[in-house]
Amino acid sequence: MGKEDAKAARAGGPTPIAGIEPALAKKLAKIGIYTRFDLILHLPLRYEDETRITPLTEVIDGQATQIEVTVVSTEVAYRPRRQLICRVEDNTGNAVLRFLNFYPSQQKAYAKGARLRVFGEPRTGFFGAEMVHPRVRVLREDTPLPNALTPVYPTTAGLTQFQLRTLIEKTLKSESLSETLPDAIRAAHQLIPFAEAIDALHHPTPDIDADELVERHHPAWRRVKFDELLAQQLSMRVHHRARQALTAPPLAPRRTLVGKFSKLLPFKLTGAQQRAWQEIGADLGRGHPMNRLLQGDVGSGKTVIAALAALRAVENNFQAVFMAPTELLAEQHYRKLTDWLTPLEVPMAWLSGSQKKAERRQSAKAIAAGDIAIAVGTHALFQDGVEFARLGLVIVDEQHRFGVRQRLALRDKGTQQDGKEPHILTMSATPIPRTLAMSYFADLDVSVIDELPPGRTPIITKLIAASRRDEVMQHVHDACTAGGQAYWVCPLIEESETLDLQTAIDTHLALAAALPTLRVGLVHGRLPAQEKAAVMAEFASGQLHLLVATTVIEVGVDVPNASLMVIEHAERFGLAQLHQLRGRVGRGAAQSVCVLLYQHPLSVDARARLRVIYEHTDGFVIAAEDLRLRGPGELLGSRQSGVPLLRFADLATDANLLASARNVSDQMVDDMPAWATRHIERWAGGRGELLKA
Ligand code: ADP
Ligand code: MG
Repeated sequence: MGKEDAKAARAGGPTPIAGIEPALAKKLAKIGIYTRFDLILHLPLRYEDETRITPLTEVIDGQATQIEVTVVSTEVAYRPRRQLICRVEDNTGNAVLRFLNFYPSQQKAYAKGARLRVFGEPRTGFFGAEMVHPRVRVLREDTPLPNALTPVYPTTAGLTQFQLRTLIEKTLKSESLSETLPDAIRAAHQLIPFAEAIDALHHPTPDIDADELVERHHPAWRRVKFDELLAQQLSMRVHHRARQALTAPPLAPRRTLVGKFSKLLPFKLTGAQQRAWQEIGADLGRGHPMNRLLQGDVGSGKTVIAALAALRAVENNFQAVFMAPTELLAEQHYRKLTDWLTPLEVPMAWLSGSQKKAERRQSAKAIAAGDIAIAVGTHALFQDGVEFARLGLVIVDEQHRFGVRQRLALRDKGTQQDGKEPHILTMSATPIPRTLAMSYFADLDVSVIDELPPGRTPIITKLIAASRRDEVMQHVHDACTAGGQAYWVCPLIEESETLDLQTAIDTHLALAAALPTLRVGLVHGRLPAQEKAAVMAEFASGQLHLLVATTVIEVGVDVPNASLMVIEHAERFGLAQLHQLRGRVGRGAAQSVCVLLYQHPLSVDARARLRVIYEHTDGFVIAAEDLRLRGPGELLGSRQSGVPLLRFADLATDANLLASARNVSDQMVDDMPAWATRHIERWAGGRGELLKA
């Protein structure tokens, strides 16, 4: 480690906090503080101005203020309840301090004649101006006023502001924060020095624009946000580079299987599909592992592209694996691929968790022996015991539903004896807004299918109050009697799978009773895979008119004749979910309708969501609105995806800063790798690992 680097590590790397009790360490961990740098970056929520004294006659009701007063009298009152009442005055007027809980020592300290410096929220009370439970300091000699605003930090139970302040103060004093951005870059992007930014945030001078600070527009905030975004971009760049150093089997065009398949397809690829396939095909031909995300709105036709990619692997004598997050979806892919590929005599295997052990073992054996060209299934595919003979391509559908760790496991699984990695194609129907894709998926190349196959009529969305449920049922009856099919999606019951299930069963019974001329089926998450598949097959073949379902049908289910969907309690669903659900209809040529039944009263948020889903059908627009309404954490499902979230920057409002950070990261990786390393060290510290995904 060079001298410069050593300094950088001291100035911010994952240095643990020394000399604190385990109990305190535990509390700090609760608010995400593990290292000295975490303490430095524990930024105030707001500030209190203790730099000046306000004369009593000038205090404003409800506005936190500091006063300096002399005690006139202090006594314990018993009505309306026991309390300490302290009458005080300054040379402009007088006031009352009230303490409902107090120690005898306080009563003593606030004796007649004592000088107090008091910070609190004044209000006009029974006794005139008063402060309830203010913060009080007894002045012994001339205590100087602080010359910076007092920070108020986010904290947790049992950890006082005083403790936090002292700890942060000590850390700031003993740390010389080195600069991780070269002057030229700071100048080009109008960024203040890091040390200056940190100092301003912890100790703003009274003349600072406090609103700018609290609203996070201040240059100090801008610098911190920029650094955070830059660190993220940098580590992804580094991983991107690392991937370029790996080797993968080049899957060149052979025009055997792919050509035959294209001829057999009953439709022509859309322009967008062709573009995506070209990009993917080019990646596959290279000797480095592809890591590409195929994004396309529901129904845009991603599966056929995946099939093409799989065939490219097979015609190069490699295996492909096609993985989906749910049994229902995996099963559907398996059926579709079987339909498409049977004429081409491509040997396929099916693997899922609910399969009988013997069957699974048999599939696994055939995969290991290399007798299987394409394996389709759920995450059972990468559980221990399944080894691939010559894995060339991994396809992951609805990639955001898999956890980071699962994805990493899959990649490891694919690494061949000769050190070659498989290519990875992930697919997502959750359109990720550009800013998010840039931020979180910088290590991914992205292809977008931004066009729906021809002949689809836009879906009509109707918002109908639940009180008109009977009319809606009549409408379902009429539509199904006229040869259509419909979905009825049961309300989501927060946090309770059992209740979810019960609601689905009840709804099924009620609808079957109310619509005796229709054949009504039920599918939910708890149904054994085989029964689930059987019900879906009946619905797909038109034997069932109406399918009552929980959100298990949210992802990927494809029955083109179904043109009506009713969603009960639509106000309980998230935007992405509603969009996915609605995407189950509108897959054929018939005019499709999605009825959103909602229950009064609607919360502000629910109203906003329903309005977005009613007004928009474009998944990208909906996702952008979702980002605006909920923030990126929720949108990405951070908990399950493990994506490290931004603490300071806000992708919805800091898009420009993100673009700058992206440019700077390219520049730094190319021209100043030592600076880049130092910056990543400071920010990523011990958290680098998750960024790999
Ligand atoms: P998604 O992108 O949501 O996974 P799918 O791959 O399930 O979409 O495709 C939706 C439907 O559109 C399927 O029935 C599929 O066969 C059909 N399809 C795909 N591409 C085309 C096309 N170019 N022309 C007509 N139909 C297509
Ligand atoms: Mg799909």
